[in-house]
Amino acid sequence: ITSKLQNTPPSSPFWSLEFFPPKTSQGSSNLLSRIARMSSDLRPSWLNVTWGAGGTTEGKSLSLAGSCVHGAWEGETINGEPLTEWQGGLDVCLHLTCTNVEKQSLDQTLRTARKLNIRNILALRGDPPRGEEYWIASDSQFQLATDLVRYIRQEHGDFFCVGVAAYPEGHCDSIERDVARDVQHLKLKQEAGAQFIITQLFYDVDVFVQWYKQCREAGITIPILPGIMPIQNYQSFRRMTNLCKATVPEEVLLALEPIRFDDAAVKDYGVQLAIRIIARLYLETDIRGFHLCTLNLEKSVRRVLQGLGWVRDEQPTRSFEEGLGKGPVAK
Ligand code: FAD
Repeated sequence: ITSKLQNTPPSSPFWSLEFFPPKTSQGSSNLLSRIARMSSDLRPSWLNVTWGAGGTTEGKSLSLAGSCVHGAWEGETINGEPLTEWQGGLDVCLHLTCTNVEKQSLDQTLRTARKLNIRNILALRGDPPRGEEYWIASDSQFQLATDLVRYIRQEHGDFFCVGVAAYPEGHCDSIERDVARDVQHLKLKQEAGAQFIITQLFYDVDVFVQWYKQCREAGITIPILPGIMPIQNYQSFRRMTNLCKATVPEEVLLALEPIRFDDAAVKDYGVQLAIRIIARLYLETDIRGFHLCTLNLEKSVRRVLQGLGWVRDEQPTRSFEEGLGKGPVAK
């Protein structure tokens, strides 16, 4: 990822797409076809594959990530077209948590990732098991994400490009959501060897921009990719924002209230909101990279990128010039 970022022209926008491993093999095969199509059309710079809490999806996450790297769909066709373009595979960032797994299993995962040529890891602490507020780390060596960053560097040198997570509104664990302290902790992750940052989802751009400035002022220099999740459904949106305690601006709540039972209208609004958030960040900051959470769905993310004018739209409704007041950007 870092070499890719170094080779990206400074004004060009770029984006990553996040997927989670499906439960069934039929689900996996459907997802791989979707990923092939989305990668070919939407041209993400890389794909992220999540890690189930406590390593519960270990095999599935590794298998999905490995398939993406190696282009497991080689020879497959979509709408009768052979998928030649992506036969070489894609760059993948595998999420990995450290506090709720045994060290042996961490070592095994990192060895397998190396074998599969997965070159990027998002090093995470992980959450307590469902229903429990606190946990005791399985191995005292791994209490924080920083410990995993340091460990990967120590054991694997520069083989992996290592990213970490960040929380523009403070992590839920922080006492009174002390954002300034969280920023200092984030800086420690950079000092331990992290090379890029992906943030928690958020819907209040003012809060994000303020936090972003705080990070830069604190000496955090590595790329920061805002986590963007287009709203798909009212209930899940409220559940998700409650869970990660993301502020929902009043105007968003007011806009959603009359359409909350109309899923299609909520999705439309979610797409327009995501476009507005990205456009504001593009215009008001130097951020050029965006992390799009797909929830394994295709349409919303496609419409967001089309709406920004960053990927081709078969029936263009809004160009990049109209959207952001800048010239078209070649990927
Ligand atoms: P840490 O960076 O270790 O931070 C946890 C808490 O400790 C924070 O309050 C922080 O301020 C504090 N802290 C950090 N460093 C220090 C320090 N040096 N001294 C004292 N306190 C410190 N979870 C999964 O299970 N699977 C996933 O795939 C996954 N993907 C994610 C992707 C993104 C982009 C994000 C934002 C989160 C993701 N998570 C995932 C959730 C994550 O595991 C939880 O949010 C977890 O509670 C914290 O992980 P962390 O890596 O941010 O922890």
